[in-house]
Amino acid sequence: MSKKKCLFRNKAIVCGLLLSFVFGATLILSGCNVKPPHEMLPPNAEENQIVIINMISPPVPQQSPLMPSPLPPSLAPSLASMPTPTEKLPLAGYIIGIDPGHQAEANTTLERLTPKSRSSKKEKVSSGTKGRWSNVPEFEVTLAVGLLLRDILIQNGATVVMTRTTNDVDISNMERAFVVNDAKTDYALRIHCNGAKDETKKGASILIPRENPFQEDCRLAADLLLSEYCETTGIEKRGIDERGDQTCFNWCDRLIINIEMGYMSNPEEDAILSNPKNYESLARGLAKGIMLYFEQKENGGLGTPPPMINP
Ligand SMILES: [Zn+2]
Repeated sequence: MSKKKCLFRNKAIVCGLLLSFVFGATLILSGCNVKPPHEMLPPNAEENQIVIINMISPPVPQQSPLMPSPLPPSLAPSLASMPTPTEKLPLAGYIIGIDPGHQAEANTTLERLTPKSRSSKKEKVSSGTKGRWSNVPEFEVTLAVGLLLRDILIQNGATVVMTRTTNDVDISNMERAFVVNDAKTDYALRIHCNGAKDETKKGASILIPRENPFQEDCRLAADLLLSEYCETTGIEKRGIDERGDQTCFNWCDRLIINIEMGYMSNPEEDAILSNPKNYESLARGLAKGIMLYFEQKENGGLGTPPPMINP
């Protein structure tokens, strides 16, 4: 080989080496810009999603084969929407029963008033009262407020059981108690409006059972509910009434109370109770009372409830 040829070949080798070095370095540098999978975020990811997505990032190469396999990416969105343990909702874990009073058609067939007597009977469900001026029926008001209350309670973490969600039902007062008993509710609220011959009679009151396995809790729940409801709505506070003549109470073995939200036979309260614009405030007042009860129970309250008795 001539000296000239040899020089040319050496130059070619040097060029080749230089080219491979530059190409290799480019690859390495561009590789540095690729983010590891756990730093990748979907477009429009919110800040709270970052934490959760990082938690379920794919395994790093050093991962031991004994470690549990990562969650499939399809689970990421549902996990992202779940509240973290620190965000526990105030009513999480509680089952609450709502019984919107009455129904579109009364059922005057008789049923047993109480499990203690075979002869005492009362009509299955009455038609309720109606606004003396507005003509709005009680069963419409109780359902509208009951449904709004349900939504507020669910938003606060509760499981809610309704005895009815429409007006066109036929469910007796005894059957309403069974709905509550079967669901093993922690708190059941019956929603009603009052009526009287005397149109000056006004204010909200609460009925509680004369006998109930959770008697003291019924009393506490009624006190708190009445205060919060009256404070929120501005409706006058009447008081608490123990009753043994309510079929639903007598067959119920859970904490249960009944609010009479006001008198539809009083001009001012008829105007309030028949106007759907007020229903959110009424429902909020009820929800605040319920939440206050659980808050007090969690912070000591009256202690554990007595054992349940069979009717
Ligand atoms: Zn009623």
